Formats: sequence, structure tokens, C-alpha cells
Amino acid sequence: MSDRDLLIGGERVAGAGDPLAVENPFTTETIATVASASPEQLDAAVAAAREAFEAWSRTPALERAEMLHEVARRLRENGEELARTMTSEGGKPLVENRDEIEWCAACFDYYAEVGRDSAGRVIPPIESTQLAMVVKDPLGVVGCIVPWNYPLLLLTWKVAPALAAGCSVVAKPSEVTPLSTLELAGCFSHLPAGVVSIVAGAGETGAALSADERVDCIAFTGSVATGRKVALACAERLARANLEMGGKDPFIVCSDVAAAHDSGIEIAARGGAWAAFLNAGQVCTSAERFYVMKDVYDDYVSAFVAHTESLVLGDPFDEATDIGPMVSAPQRQKVVDQVEAAVAAGAEVLAGGGDGGPDRGHFFAPTVVTGAPAETDLLREETFGPVAPIVPVADLDEAIALANGTRFGLGANVYTRDLKNAIHCMRELRAGTVWINDPLTDNDAGPFGGFKQSGIGRELGREGLEAFQETKHVHMETEIEQKDWWYPYGPAGGESNR
Ligand code: NAD
Repeated sequence: MSDRDLLIGGERVAGAGDPLAVENPFTTETIATVASASPEQLDAAVAAAREAFEAWSRTPALERAEMLHEVARRLRENGEELARTMTSEGGKPLVENRDEIEWCAACFDYYAEVGRDSAGRVIPPIESTQLAMVVKDPLGVVGCIVPWNYPLLLLTWKVAPALAAGCSVVAKPSEVTPLSTLELAGCFSHLPAGVVSIVAGAGETGAALSADERVDCIAFTGSVATGRKVALACAERLARANLEMGGKDPFIVCSDVAAAHDSGIEIAARGGAWAAFLNAGQVCTSAERFYVMKDVYDDYVSAFVAHTESLVLGDPFDEATDIGPMVSAPQRQKVVDQVEAAVAAGAEVLAGGGDGGPDRGHFFAPTVVTGAPAETDLLREETFGPVAPIVPVADLDEAIALANGTRFGLGANVYTRDLKNAIHCMRELRAGTVWINDPLTDNDAGPFGGFKQSGIGRELGREGLEAFQETKHVHMETEIEQKDWWYPYGPAGGESNR
């Protein structure tokens, strides 16, 4: 058995499909070759999930809860190793990957308890002799397809609630970062065979999983373009699709921040830089557009640039590193192209804009841009890199109009101490999460997902559990009696009922 084996029906098996080369984005060396699942192996994984669903969906919720807590315990026990593997294959700083493991464990603990807390609700019946209930049933087999930027967290946001709901899963990591997910198999070995299967593979494997009639729901995180394909495949066979896709999150800074606090602007700049550059900007909720009120704009830009220039690029294993390499050369090139196009259209680069120092790795220095025209991709399309374009605005209404002006609606950030501004933003921003004065903080109990093309459905919170439940209305009459609205309507058969 190897750490690179797939997990199918409770067995670790060597992949029999195409090889996937995994690159370390810091050294740019190939660190592993993983054999993906062959079509027959994917078929076996789905068949195992189908079979396992029967018993798992009937397992008492308390027993499922104990098994999910055990997943959390094993995650913490193996956390350092898993975090190091994520660092090698993804380039995210080790400190951030350690956080990611803890968030995964906490999420399994959360759904262990939420899953045994309620199975529906009792509703007022039509008559006093009746009992009426809304019962939440497990949905079935869930296919989980995830990207490379938070390989284990985004998988956990699907697998933990799906298992808690009584579903079985087939998980497919990104072809860019399969190693940590395959290593995760040990955290599931106490579960009945087939409840969790893990298949490595690229787009074809994801497409085959999405098209499989035996899969009741695809829970997907990734780009809008791929999400659309998944949605179409699911629509074709009328299966559920829960889609978490791209974003172009705005970050609004109100002038009252300066008045409220001596260092208010400095803090809003540091918060903005973290929101823009975390994981080299490769976060679906990265702050990608800054709208700053005119009277604090100059101070904000200066503070932002000064802080950006102090950030340390380097080896993601090095504890002094703030920002590691981007995940791959193509991902980096996309960012270079967007910045160059903005500069060609008149934008100015105030910090960063190049490799940033290290002599190897897919580095792009944290970059601050001003003067980008509103119609450039840098202000309209997802960048997914460490770039912060800053735009002055006259007032909050202009900021909100610009913030709402893209096809995305994942998250939005606001810095203000003014209650009226905060409430106005909360009401008007068309985004799945609105963060006020604390960018990008997730909460297992708070649903996460997007408006508009950023998503359909929600993860986390109770909504994240309901995504993997089917709803059944049970209407129960305790008397066996003729109802007076039945036939006959007329007097022909005797007394009219009406
Ligand atoms: P991607 O869309 O290229 O790939 C995502 C996953 O889909 C991968 O596992 C891939 O193998 C698979 N896939 C590819 N083609 C497929 C097909 N035809 N059918 C089914 N599956 C297929 O995305 P990526 O480059 O890995 O990740 C970056 C994207 O993910 C960004 O757009 C980012 O915004 C988004 N993202 C969104 C969230 C969120 O929660 N909304 C979180 C993180 C990342």
C-alpha cells in the first residue's frame, strides 16, 4: 500500500488510469506521479458508494457523530504531515496549511454534532387528530469535486456534512494537488467500506463522475467555466448540483475609519493586504478590487504600499515567509497578462509587479495597482493572484454600485465604524458573505457561497447539511374515517358530502 493509492470500497488500490505529474511550485520539480482512476475504478468507487449508502443512511446519527469526531481526531493527529504535503504540492505557506488542517478538524467536529441535532421539524397539522412532520432524509451518493487552493478544506466542507446527513461520497481532488487528499484516506479507515472513496484524476474523471446516473448530487468547487459544465451534466440527468465558483470580491474603505481610530487607516490597509495576498491571492474570496473614499484614498494607498513592500516572499516551509509561490506557471501567467493589460490601458504599478526576488518558483510579488480603467479585466474578471487594484470613490453609494457591478457575488468586505454605513452595506451588497471590519473570516456555522455566477447553493451551517438532504413531508391521520371532501360530490350516490 502506498500513500498515492486510491481509496475504493475501503481498499487502497493503485490507480490504473493516466499518470498525473505533481509539481512543487517552489522548486518547480516533479515530486510525485500519481496514477489516476481508470474508468473501471471510478465505476467501482461509485458502485461501492451506492452499496454503502444503504447501511450508512440507516446508521443512528449518534454513531455517525462518533465516527466523524474520530475523523477530526485523526486529522489533528496527522496534521503536521498533511500540512507539509499540502505545502509541497500547493506552495501555500506551512503556517496557513496548519491552519487549514485545524479548520478541517473543527468542521468535522461541527457536523458530527449538527448531524445528530435534528432530522426535520414538526408542523401544525390540518386537523387535531393528525401529526405532520418535515423529515430530512439522506440524499444518496455525493460526488465531491474540488480545486487545488484549499485542497482539504474545500473537500471537508462537502464530505463532513454529506456524511453527517447519511450520504456516502466519492471525492475527486484537483489533478494539481492530489497527494494530500490521497494521504487523507487513513482518516476514513474506521468508516464502513465504500462510505468514502477517493479517486485521483483530471477533468475527464470529474466529467465522468458528474455524468454518472448513480450519483445523486455533485458538490463542486472550482471555476465558473467548469461549474457550468458540471451544471449542464447534472441538468441532463436532473441530478442536484451544489456549485461554489469564482469571485471578484470588493473591499470598501469608508472615510470614517480614519476618524474613528488613530491607526484606523493603517489597520484597514493591513487587513486589505492580507485579504488580497493570502495564499498568493489564490483564495476564492480574495479581495480583488478596493474602493476607497476620496478623502482617505492617498493615506490608504501609502499605508497599503508600505505594508506590501514589507511582506516576505520565499520558501513556503520557511516560518518567515508571508507569501509563497503561485501554484503553477499558467496560473502565474494569467496574473501577469491581467496586470500588463491594465498597465497598457493606463494603470500604474505602485508595488510589486514582477517575480519579487526568489530565483526559482512561480512567484509573483504582491502588487498594488492604481488608475486601472473600470472596464479592464483586472477590475472585472477573477485574477486569482496577489494583486490589489485600488480605486477612489466619491461616496458609499458609488462604492456599492461598483462593488455590485460584476457577474460575481461571492464575498464583500467593508471597513467602517459608522453603524449606518455598516447596515447600508449589509443590505445592499449582492454577495454571499459580507465581512465588516474582519476580512475573510469563516465560521463553520455561517453559510458560505455565492450570489450570481459565484454559486448555486451554500456550504457550511445548517444550509450546508441541507444540501445533502432530501425533504419529505409526512402527513399522519390517527383516525380511520371518511373525509367529508371525498366522493360523492352530488346527491346521486346518497347524501352529498358538500
Ligand atoms: P477548475 O474549475 O479548473 O477545476 C476544479 C475541479 O474541477 C478540479 O478537480 C478539476 O479536475 C475538475 N474538473 C475539470 N473539468 C471538469 C469537468 N468537465 N467536469 C467535472 N469536473 C471537472 O478550478 P481550479 O483551477 O482547480 O480552481 C480555481 C477556481 O476555483 C477559481 O475560479 C476559484 O475562484 C474557484 N474556487 C471557488 C471557491 C468557492 O468556494 N466559491 C473556493 C476555492 C476556489
